[in-house]
Amino acid sequence: MRLEHEEINGKHIFHNYGHGSGGIALAYGSAFLATKKFDNKIDQTKQNSCAVVGSGLIALLTAVELTKKGQTVTVYADRFPKYGENDNSKRIASQVDEGLYLPFGYDIADQLQYDLLSKISHDYYKQCLKANRYQSFKTTFVYERDASVAQLKKKIPGFINNTYRTEKVSFGNGIPENFIRMKTIKIDTEMFLE
Ligand SMILES: Cc1cc2nc3c(=O)[nH]c(=O)nc-3n(C[C@H](O)[C@H](O)[C@H](O)COP(=O)(O)OP(=O)(O)OC[C@H]3O[C@@H](n4cnc5c(N)ncnc54)[C@H](O)[C@@H]3O)c2cc1C
Repeated sequence: MRLEHEEINGKHIFHNYGHGSGGIALAYGSAFLATKKFDNKIDQTKQNSCAVVGSGLIALLTAVELTKKGQTVTVYADRFPKYGENDNSKRIASQVDEGLYLPFGYDIADQLQYDLLSKISHDYYKQCLKANRYQSFKTTFVYERDASVAQLKKKIPGFINNTYRTEKVSFGNGIPENFIRMKTIKIDTEMFLE
């Protein structure tokens, strides 16, 4: 995952991508931190012209954060998501059927940054739940294969107060495997993108 500032020929570039299987879970925290980097590098007394490349959840949340700071934002993308698009070849990654908040298993080397992104995003999604915005935010149950509860808990930031229990599940092959049942937030990304 890349979340950093670069200056090229006097232009400020804020890289914010490569979230792999955690892009929905970490989207808001990532947008928030990317625009915080903007605060430190840009003259805030001026209205700057910003280009955001991409129209997925991360890009759009970044654009929203920049407009909240009074900046002018233009979104450029080779594809814009259409609400309710059935053709899978036209759907972008952010149009997942179930955007689950699963703060573990991502390939993020910087643990501090990862915890921070998880926390900021979690607080934001909880607020949405509380305010009943994006009504299809729900809690759901997910399974994490081949991990003990103790192993899983080590990977999950401590602020997430969940209950976990192990269950044996077999997929028609008669071989039961250990799964962990946990409650988490389900994010309706299409509603967000809309
Ligand atoms: C099946 C599936 C299930 C998933 N489940 C989860 C989950 O439960 N929880 C979770 O946290 N994450 C999940 N993810 C991962 C998550 O969907 C992605 O990490 C996230 O959507 C990435 O968002 P994004 O905004 O960076 O990119 P995208 O949504 O991929 O959007 C990229 C945007 O950039 C544009 N673009 C790309 N290249 C160019 C270019 N050269 N020029 C101009 N524009 C360009 C595209 O048109 C698009 O608008 C899942 C992914 C998949 C595929």
